[in-house]
Amino acid sequence: MKNYSVSHSNFTGDPFQGSVPADSTKGALTILKWAYETYQDSIVYACSFGAEGVVLVDLISKVQKDAEIVFLDTDLHFQETYDLIDKVQEMYPRLRILLKKPNLTLEEQAEKYGSALWKRNPNQCCYIRKIKPLEEALKGATAWISGLRREQSISRSNTDFINKDERFESIKVCPLIYWTWDDVWDYIKINGLHYNRLHDNNYPSIGCIPCTSQVIDSSDSRAGRWSGFNKTECGLHISDAEKNK
Ligand code: SF4
Repeated sequence: MKNYSVSHSNFTGDPFQGSVPADSTKGALTILKWAYETYQDSIVYACSFGAEGVVLVDLISKVQKDAEIVFLDTDLHFQETYDLIDKVQEMYPRLRILLKKPNLTLEEQAEKYGSALWKRNPNQCCYIRKIKPLEEALKGATAWISGLRREQSISRSNTDFINKDERFESIKVCPLIYWTWDDVWDYIKINGLHYNRLHDNNYPSIGCIPCTSQVIDSSDSRAGRWSGFNKTECGLHISDAEKNK
């Protein structure tokens, strides 16, 4: 593997810490340019095709037209999400969008762990259907991109542009940390981007069907995920405390 100026093994801190590059995207385009120049074909965008996802795809397409984008296809997504991915691929034909499947089909998972594992042990289900597949997708890559924003939750509030990612022994690049929910939607509307139509039907955050619910009267952009469980993350993003261990 090449020696990159910032990698998991030599990370000493976010090179952009404390400064927001002066561009019209609150630093996002500057960070993406830096990331693709630095890591070239050794960086992957793990996209969930939520509102932040379509913004990042558009920004990435301005920097790296044939970027690799991975969607963790759990086999449990809404048809609206798959329809959106088709539209995005049409809009950006050079992007390499890969639908990454888990090693177990839903039937095999049910045979091994019982039916509807997400109802009894969503952490284990996320591990099988999201975390392991991302681990495989990131093999050989030095860095990955995520759409985390600081205002989304307390656990994301200290996210930097460039982060040491202990979970995947990688560098996690987060260009949208300073964006608000309104910034995301202004960008989508102004640029006429495709987005998941479920957002118009009170789904602010969209994941797998069994773990996503409609939300009425909430300003929380992560509301409606894993309702009934004390769980707010699928496990792809560990907390800062863990990050700094
Ligand atoms: Fe399973 Fe729900 Fe996680 Fe999807 S979000 S992998 S259904 S627990």
